[in-house]
Amino acid sequence: MANVLVIAEMHEGKVRKSTHSAITFARNVGAPFTILVLGPGSKAAAAEVTGFGAAKVLACDDAYLQNGLAERVSPTIAAVAKSGGFDVVVVTASSFGKDVAPRVAAKLGAGYAPDISNVKVDGGKLTYRRPVFAGNAYGNCQINTPVQVVSVRQSEFSAAEPSGGASPVEDVAVAGKDAAADRVEFVSMETAKSERPDLGEARVIVSGGRALKEQFASVLDPLANLLNAAVGASRAACDAGYAPPELQVGQTGRVVAPQLYFAIGISGAIQHLAGMKGSKTIVAINKDPDAPIFQVADYGLVADLFNAVPELVTELKKN
Ligand code: FAD
Repeated sequence: MANVLVIAEMHEGKVRKSTHSAITFARNVGAPFTILVLGPGSKAAAAEVTGFGAAKVLACDDAYLQNGLAERVSPTIAAVAKSGGFDVVVVTASSFGKDVAPRVAAKLGAGYAPDISNVKVDGGKLTYRRPVFAGNAYGNCQINTPVQVVSVRQSEFSAAEPSGGASPVEDVAVAGKDAAADRVEFVSMETAKSERPDLGEARVIVSGGRALKEQFASVLDPLANLLNAAVGASRAACDAGYAPPELQVGQTGRVVAPQLYFAIGISGAIQHLAGMKGSKTIVAINKDPDAPIFQVADYGLVADLFNAVPELVTELKKN
């Protein structure tokens, strides 16, 4: 049976919730698993994940690993995977995970299945399902190397809930300092401060397209506020400067799967669908009845969004 090493993602001294999707993967595999938390403050942060049923939680609490630079953390992850005899290393396919996982795989000589949406266990053999062709098809793959590295889609592996108990926490030391790490330097982190839920964690997302023009925020914000929703955007809206780039949903943006996704003035190009078609319920508002978004929408309204959205807000306020 596989022995799984879950890599936690840290942010500002806390374990990010995205880590819970990687824990769900480990539980689905049904194997004993260990969680590795890296970076300054990880000893304290380890306590956040001791109640999820891990055999143990390892903490590498070292300032050298500050900011989660992939070139710095991957030698330690690879060393822990080797010394602990882990068969599978898993991380959530966030920016951090996508940066770290291939480096770890290369160090371990391991096959890598990126961005998986499902795992099946058959007689100890793991089969990974992953989207291909911008999510228009799915492929199943198996890895034949002794160690496997996997990144999981947060939108497909629901966040694990604590299961009780208290896993023991053990310290591990930084292992090796790569020459690659000398060639990178952390300059600064610029993050948008928002009161809204994170796109990856929101139950409701109100997303807008190029059609909103400069009124992007003034039309969408009242609806998003009422629904306590995150705001998303098409790439065309971001490229035009109507919405900040971190709101982009799609193949080259965030992949999301909320309970409710509003696509407002979004045509429904395949690259946009690749990031949101896993949403539980999709509501589309578009003035073109032939817009491709209607092919994936559960509810469609053919209307001018500049009338329809304010009307919707007025009606919702009545309830
Ligand atoms: P448009 O295509 O301009 O559509 C606007 C829509 O608004 C139309 O359907 C129109 O009928 C409707 N509309 C106009 N006025 C109104 C009105 N008053 N009321 C109601 N409806 C109205 N796109 C993404 O979104 N995410 C990605 O990650 C992404 N990655 C890409 C990667 C690659 C390699 C490439 C080549 C493209 C990528 N794209 C991505 C771009 C994608 O192909 C589309 O160009 C983009 O999604 C279109 O955005 P849009 O629907 O907002 O704009």
